[in-house]
Amino acid sequence: MSILVVGSVALDTVETPFGRVTNALGGSATYFSVAASLFAPVSVVAVVGTDFPAEHLDFLGSRGIDLSGLQVQSGESFRWSGRYGFDLNQAETLDTQLNVFAAFHPHLPSAFADAEFVFLANIDPELQLEVLEQIPNAKLRALDTMNFWIESKRAALARTMSKVDVITMNEAEVRQFAGTSSLIAAARTILSLGPKALVVKKGEYGCTVFGPEGFFFTPAYPLEEVRDPTGAGDSFAGGFIGYLAKSKTITDGTIRRAVVHGSVVASFTVEDFSINRLRQVSPAEVARRYDEFRNFVHFDGP
Ligand code: AMP
Repeated sequence: MSILVVGSVALDTVETPFGRVTNALGGSATYFSVAASLFAPVSVVAVVGTDFPAEHLDFLGSRGIDLSGLQVQSGESFRWSGRYGFDLNQAETLDTQLNVFAAFHPHLPSAFADAEFVFLANIDPELQLEVLEQIPNAKLRALDTMNFWIESKRAALARTMSKVDVITMNEAEVRQFAGTSSLIAAARTILSLGPKALVVKKGEYGCTVFGPEGFFFTPAYPLEEVRDPTGAGDSFAGGFIGYLAKSKTITDGTIRRAVVHGSVVASFTVEDFSINRLRQVSPAEVARRYDEFRNFVHFDGP
């Protein structure tokens, strides 16, 4: 089943203790779509400026990603610049330039109206809502966001959150949004807006799902070397939604397996800057790490 994503397609400047890249391919929709395309066909709704390198679009097209909803407008592309210290769970945003996103309004090609799995990746919540309104028949609507939007567009964000089925958010952002340090209380606040499930991402410590069947916890895939955590959350979402779209059913069991697939795909992303590692990953490598993951977390009864 096909997947639709709206989010940023960006040029990122990122510094970690292990290196630095300038104007590298990034953006929430980019990481998501490259990850999800390992499982199912993906269409992107976004905008880039005329400065956006053609080679990046050629690469996304070569992955079978449908770019007919990607507008190219005169002006500069979205740019994000961030830094990480040795605690790679904590990104410090140095600069966010919305550029062509500031005046962007998504117009979905008519072929996209039947999309069944929709991911509203990190972007202005008003744009997320505009997309949602154009796909009334979606089977699963999921949303991700970050502190930038919690601080600048909280009311619009809460409105969009109330119209989706699943929310994925970082632990710190869940606490920030709900205004409490208790994750369980914060999850209750967010679920009271309307979504059926909340996936709380905890970086190298894994994630917790708060869903209709209760809790589900997973660790992250253990890696000895992480070079750049940028895009981990979006590629987690790509693996998660991609797996659900491929399975065609949404049950407690498929959600659990989808979360682990998301964790596996994210583990590749963080091994290098930008999408340098993610772009090389094959479905066979994903399957191998998934099997290892099962062994890591398996235990028998007494
Ligand atoms: P994450 O998966 O959370 O590490 O997301 C990283 C990506 O989010 C980067 O490639 C950035 O280009 C993008 N990003 C950062 N800030 C924003 C923002 N305010 N809106 C949309 N995308 C953003």
